[in-house]
Amino acid sequence: MKNNEKYNRETLVLHADHEWGEKEGTVAPAIYYTSTFPAKDSAEFAEMASTPQHPQYYTRYGNPVHERVKMIMADLEGTETALVTGSGMGAITTVLLSMVATGDHVIAQKSHYMSTAKIMDEMLPRFGVEVTIVDQTDLSAFGDAIKPNTKLILLETPVNPTLLLTDLAAVTTLAKERGILVVADNTFASPINQRPHDLGVDVIVHSATKYLGGHSDITAGVICTSHELAEVIWDTHTSIGSVLSPMDAWLLLRGLRTLPVRMERINYNALALAEFLENQPEIESVSYPGLVSHPQHDLAKQQMKGFGAVIAFAIKGDYAATQRFVSALNLSLNAVSLGGVESLVIHSAAMWEGHLNEEQMKVAGIPPNYVRYSVGLEHIEDLKADVLQALAKI
Ligand SMILES: *Cc1c(COP(=O)(O)O)cnc(C)c1O
Repeated sequence: MKNNEKYNRETLVLHADHEWGEKEGTVAPAIYYTSTFPAKDSAEFAEMASTPQHPQYYTRYGNPVHERVKMIMADLEGTETALVTGSGMGAITTVLLSMVATGDHVIAQKSHYMSTAKIMDEMLPRFGVEVTIVDQTDLSAFGDAIKPNTKLILLETPVNPTLLLTDLAAVTTLAKERGILVVADNTFASPINQRPHDLGVDVIVHSATKYLGGHSDITAGVICTSHELAEVIWDTHTSIGSVLSPMDAWLLLRGLRTLPVRMERINYNALALAEFLENQPEIESVSYPGLVSHPQHDLAKQQMKGFGAVIAFAIKGDYAATQRFVSALNLSLNAVSLGGVESLVIHSAAMWEGHLNEEQMKVAGIPPNYVRYSVGLEHIEDLKADVLQALAKI
């Protein structure tokens, strides 16, 4: 029986890598802080050199700490295997560059994480890959976009910054009929809240910088998929070289041990804060998949077990009032990123100002009074009180 059939996720994050613990004879994992590993003799060296994903040959190819993270992540996502990279963008770029070639067609969403959108708008077209951008909430748009040369569909749900969802099962059904690969960025949900592979997704990518690491101290990425696809992706990975350092892999491993408990509290805190915000007279609107008012709340309940840390909301007021609100918050730090133990907040329009003009912001769904709040593990009553005192200052 496989680990992920035998154990619940709280147990998996602690024990899925136990064979390495037994080998090492330690309770806490060892950190293999080495770029290269010696063979006993040249026959063993020849074998190491020709073994894909060897965990003890050269760290760009693999490392025992990577191996432990891979075991846990594959079990959490329910895939056969996983790969680790130096960042979430490293994971996304590696997957895309290993899967598509000149002349292929890719379908992606109208909103994506900013750097992913840039790959779709600029990088893939530069290599002669055709890209069609569709409204992720419109299933027929995906169907209409499919062409004979469609190779891959990239999904991200919930999506940054609007928190709109994509119907994973519906899109994979469309894709499967035509042999199209589906890749999903599961960063905003985490494997605790959403398992895209169960809904037919072929490759799952994560920015492990967020929930998986969970402490805002590393950048890392994870790719979860089948053995067959992992082999192809790993081959490209060794050329692209988005390598996770052994120390950062160790911090990621430490973060994973508490992922289920952190997510439980984060889901609770964020839903409570979203409901609280919705009842404040100074707030114009709140977007959170867990709210009944979210336009895709039924889909959220169907494909998610919890709704994550990120709440997007609009202040009744202009750009300056929103700036005053964000600056007046004491507990949530004014910083990018999400999914850490501490609450973080950003004035969305301020973040995108240097990248998009006003019209583009409107299209991307980022009005000047928009705030993105990533809820941490603080006591919910303290977070509510902090928001209240800041709203009084707008
Ligand atoms: C942060 C993020 C990324 C990029 O990850 P990095 O670890 O910063 O490279 C990709 N997708 C989503 C949804 C993200 O939130």
